Amino acid sequence: MKNFISDSKGYYGEYGGAYIPEMLRHNVKELGDIYFDLINSDGFQKEYRNLLKNYAGRPSPLYFAPRLSEYYKANIYLKREDLNHTGSHKINNTLGQILLAKYMGKKRIIAETGAGQHGVATATVCALFGLECIVYMGEVDIERQQPNVKRMEMLGAKVVPAKSGSRTLKDATNEALRDWIANPEDTFYIIGSVVGPHPYPDLVAYFQSIISSELKEQLVEQNGDENPDYIIACVGGGSNAAGIFYHYIDNHKVKLIGVEAAGKGVNTDLNAASIKNGHRGVIHGSMTYLMQDDDGQIIEPYSISAGLDYPGVGPLHAWLNDSGKAKYIEATDQQALDAAYRCARLEGIIPALESAHAIAALDIMSFNTNDVIVINISGRGDKDMAAYIDSLKYLNNYE
Ligand SMILES: *Cc1c(COP(=O)(O)O)cnc(C)c1O
Repeated sequence: MKNFISDSKGYYGEYGGAYIPEMLRHNVKELGDIYFDLINSDGFQKEYRNLLKNYAGRPSPLYFAPRLSEYYKANIYLKREDLNHTGSHKINNTLGQILLAKYMGKKRIIAETGAGQHGVATATVCALFGLECIVYMGEVDIERQQPNVKRMEMLGAKVVPAKSGSRTLKDATNEALRDWIANPEDTFYIIGSVVGPHPYPDLVAYFQSIISSELKEQLVEQNGDENPDYIIACVGGGSNAAGIFYHYIDNHKVKLIGVEAAGKGVNTDLNAASIKNGHRGVIHGSMTYLMQDDDGQIIEPYSISAGLDYPGVGPLHAWLNDSGKAKYIEATDQQALDAAYRCARLEGIIPALESAHAIAALDIMSFNTNDVIVINISGRGDKDMAAYIDSLKYLNNYE
């Protein structure tokens, strides 16, 4: 079978695959058999490109950031995924998957969500296509993320609480998988990152690859060379990073840097650095790095940024890490807050807390004055104002 960058069984080296219960085989195989040809068909491409342009507002700008560049003494560009409809890169993926559902004749959409960003992006495309939408969300997250719960409801989605375990993202994912097993005929499961069983990591990476295909053209236009020295992105499950790395994987002129959430510190119990601190294991249907204890139980992750506190990472990144094709570093809550304020004050752009982890790489790494650095601003900071307001005391120290 054909595929984008995984092998035909969904492996990236030894990572990936489809470790799923027998009862899910039919659903996963149905999608696996069809996704590559369907996505590459003229009809699909025409509709997808039209939605990206006229609904999501692509291409997203590539912005040369003069004051950040002066401050860090390098040439810094920001890829503005924050300007997309619904405020992040997630819409690139949900538009692609809702089209797959439509072409496959599915009438009912399910999704999992942690902070609610993927839930909102899914509810949005379901409204657009007039399809029933059920979003599983941990009970704890429902309490913490009321504005996004209300957004989903306003868009017509039903938000179902996951009440088992720690009542957060991984439990919501388990509920969604259970629903899919129970409803194999009419239901399409829209997964929110480059995670899950094959073919999800492969198809989500493709849907996000629009970011690096635009980037190449924009860099040629603005800088005369499609190759920057560095591309930097934050890594939760890893979809925005996969998208901006995609067309540069195996390009030895470009250094790819992923930034994981170090929370209160990589050496504390409170972090979400699954590549740094995780071990090989299976989570949500794929072999990858995940944070687990000696008994193989998943360790609850922590980050100030809700979009980064996932206990695993997409198998693509596990492979990029081990092969040295990309490098992964970590930024703490404090480093991310610092970077968010710097970006706000120097460029007038309030980034999502997730994206602020990528910007923090500017403080963590050292660069040469001629270096061209592209940072993926995966989303906008409006949703994070409560966390930023909590840090107002910190803000006073900043001045
Ligand atoms: C969800 C989210 C992320 C993390 O997800 P990835 O799959 O790692 O990209 C990062 N930034 C924003 C703004 C998000 O909403």
